[in-house]
Amino acid sequence: MPSIIIIGAGFGGLGMAMELQRNGFHEFTILERATDLGGVWRENTYPGAACDVPSPLYSFSYEPKPDWPQRYSGRADIQAYIHAVARRHGLLDSIVFGAEVTEAQFDDHSGQWTVLTGDGTSRTADILISAVGQLSRPAWPAIPGIDSFEGTSFHSALWDHEVPLAGKRVACIGTGASAIQYIPEIQPQVEHLTLFQRTAAWVLPKFDTDYKPVHHRVLRKIPGMPLAERVSWWLIGETVALGLVEFPGIVRVVSRIAEKHLEEQVPDPELRAKLTPDYPIGCKRGLFSNDYFPALCEPNVDVVTTPISEIVPQGVRTADGTVHAVDVIVYGTGFKGTEFLWPMKIRGRGGRNLADAWADGAHAYLGMTVPEFPNLFLVYGPNTNLGVGSIIYMLESQARYIRSAIQAIAERPGSRLEVKSETERAYNEALQERLALTPWNFCTSWYRNAAGKITNNWPGTTRSYRRRTRKVNLDDFYLTRVD
Ligand code: NAP
Repeated sequence: MPSIIIIGAGFGGLGMAMELQRNGFHEFTILERATDLGGVWRENTYPGAACDVPSPLYSFSYEPKPDWPQRYSGRADIQAYIHAVARRHGLLDSIVFGAEVTEAQFDDHSGQWTVLTGDGTSRTADILISAVGQLSRPAWPAIPGIDSFEGTSFHSALWDHEVPLAGKRVACIGTGASAIQYIPEIQPQVEHLTLFQRTAAWVLPKFDTDYKPVHHRVLRKIPGMPLAERVSWWLIGETVALGLVEFPGIVRVVSRIAEKHLEEQVPDPELRAKLTPDYPIGCKRGLFSNDYFPALCEPNVDVVTTPISEIVPQGVRTADGTVHAVDVIVYGTGFKGTEFLWPMKIRGRGGRNLADAWADGAHAYLGMTVPEFPNLFLVYGPNTNLGVGSIIYMLESQARYIRSAIQAIAERPGSRLEVKSETERAYNEALQERLALTPWNFCTSWYRNAAGKITNNWPGTTRSYRRRTRKVNLDDFYLTRVD
């Protein structure tokens, strides 16, 4: 049996480990940089942190939870679910916590990966699987003077719960999926909230509900109900995903719902004009909230759309020269989503540096394998993120595919599997042609790198991805023996 190292103990890494274990591969170690599992759900503790994908779908298919307390679960419930699943599958003993991978090197002679962690420990394995996510490193904005601020500031993904916000003047920078969750939570506490909005967000109503005991009973007692509930949510996501690429009419209907939501929730025409997006819906990630717009209508909130010119000791200066004096600045400015696997130094066959191979933007065959990097697999790699839908469905597709590749390696002990460069190139050319048809081209977002290339998203339904990744096709690979 090949030995395997998995990097990351979030949904991706744990899902991979369970897939391996369920298929008889037990020789794996999960290296996790933090002291707990959970990935983004461990890290993002900001007030109101929740998932805007319904829990029946945002969970492992083989680990349904009939008693989710609500449709759109909060962070604490999701984190508890991840813990419970990891415990049930006996994964805790396979995780090494506090082990941040800094380097990994493929040895051409032994055909093994040597993996170094921050404490200087070196481990070897036949197979290396990265499951470090796309949103694990917060992005601070490049605003001049950011270090000169004399008050307190923090990033949404590094929320400082020691800082009391009650009665404070707070600046919030950013209007993404994180910000629209914490702004309604903090607005009632703060003396004044100034929201610095660079780009207005498309916001859809959130059809949330607490699941009543009767709902839990039905799911427990009637066979097939958990699956039926999951499939219903999946079909809704698939329909909208089709709209993003194939049927723009669907997206027009969704735009109309969002426009109506804004009209109903924001009566003031001046504020409504500020909050009206000037780019097509779907370009940035769709957002869901019933309390974001109402919070912005409160008298203690100002929405500032004049660009920020600098951070000064007292607060935020905008391009019109106004200094907005504040006590706290919250940066809801997102993540370094296009810097896949960075800052790990990954060296493949012949010492090939992954950062060099990806100098023009990350790319991989089906988001999982890279030429010249044998026996390396990526979970949630390039172009596997979704505009709509559950990423856990994608992670399960990847786990199955990677497991089937590992089975092929295990059948020929000591062999190395490497994707053919022409296969990977043709795949990515076709992918980019299809991506050119999507709304993701019409604005800036974390889906695109600095050069504008869409490196993060999958242009299709989750079903189409699953069809393509059902099983490894050995014709796409060189499978060679290590001499
Ligand atoms: P984000 O979507 O990348 O949003 C970052 C925000 O910061 C944007 O509004 C951006 O403005 C603004 N910004 C960045 N630099 C700025 C600057 N220099 N000056 C002014 N504004 C600046 O980040 P996020 O809200 O943390 O969300 C990231 C992703 O995490 C989401 O897309 C989603 O995939 C995931 N997430 C999911 C959930 C969930 O419920 N499932 C919840 C939270 C997050 P521009 O738009 O103008 O660039």
